[in-house]
Amino acid sequence: MKTWETYIRKVVPYVPGEQPQGEHIIKLNTNENPYPPAPGVQKALREMNPEQFRKYPDPSAGLLVKALADHFQVSEKNIFVGVGSDDVLGMAFLTFFNSGKPILFPDITYSFYPVWADLFGIPYETPELDGTFSIRHEDYKRDSGGIVLANPNAPTGMYLPLGQVEDIVRWNQDVVVIVDEAYVDFGGQSAVRLTENYENLLVVQTFSKSRSMAGMRIGYGIGSEKLIKALMDVKYSYNSYTLNYPSIVLGAEAVKDDIYFRETVDKIVRTREQAKERFAQMGFSCTDSQTNFLFITHERVPAKDIFRILKQEKIYVRYFAVPKLDNYLRVSIGTDEEMEELYRILEKRLPQMG
Ligand code: PMP
Repeated sequence: MKTWETYIRKVVPYVPGEQPQGEHIIKLNTNENPYPPAPGVQKALREMNPEQFRKYPDPSAGLLVKALADHFQVSEKNIFVGVGSDDVLGMAFLTFFNSGKPILFPDITYSFYPVWADLFGIPYETPELDGTFSIRHEDYKRDSGGIVLANPNAPTGMYLPLGQVEDIVRWNQDVVVIVDEAYVDFGGQSAVRLTENYENLLVVQTFSKSRSMAGMRIGYGIGSEKLIKALMDVKYSYNSYTLNYPSIVLGAEAVKDDIYFRETVDKIVRTREQAKERFAQMGFSCTDSQTNFLFITHERVPAKDIFRILKQEKIYVRYFAVPKLDNYLRVSIGTDEEMEELYRILEKRLPQMG
């Protein structure tokens, strides 16, 4: 090995879900929203003048930050925006977890957390979920370098009641607690209001799921002025212009349309609740997901085999070939038509398998 090669930073990267190309694919593998963005977004896109692309975007993404501040009834100083919530979360790991003490997150959760921790040299410990895939909130009441919880959690879909989240935040006031609410609009109660009382709490949300804009890459964090200022300082030490011009304009439009947002979320929740029943009838058990995906396992047929036959039928779901998860599938909630096609294929193929 050449000398320079020995000095390369060694990382094991996060592996995102497949983005298959082609037609007639049913894509239920990355928790995207099956419905289009709000009509206001589509209108603003049609009216967008590419002449604007000549200039750098507003580094503070002021238009978007203002729309979010109005929506959540917080000050603009309480909001940090990034290129998807991945960017906000990564920046938050880099900014807040420098004590040298291990941070805590569950053993089963969003698999990007250990990747950021390793990348930034942050030690971590991973308390186990209980037998029902729930977070044991008592595990997070101990000395640590900080805490990260996805709520609802992924890929389990399980929601930790807000009272228990608050208990964790209250107990841990000497460290930063990050609550990743990528899926909260589909069921849980948000911890955003708690940020008014706890200056160590950062709540992170995204436009990728409930606002149908995964392709635009918009995420945000809400927290005390001190936390947001610290995040800004790190961001401006790394890349001033994170959000591009279309994301700023179109993101602001998406936030303004609350009626469309609620309608879309309600539709997905209805389809999800029907899906729980349909899967149960086919011999699956599933967690009580409060998200836009289900986490399912079949009583007889291994998840890996189901994953394979669905792929043959051009239906993509997510399979994690890792201990504890390797007999489960994560199935994003699609349109009713897409879900009917999925049930039809499973009803046809499952009896011949296993
Ligand atoms: N948090 C969780 C729990 C997720 O599942 C995801 C989606 N992969 C993200 C954050 C990141 O989403 P995005 O970067 O698209 O906002």
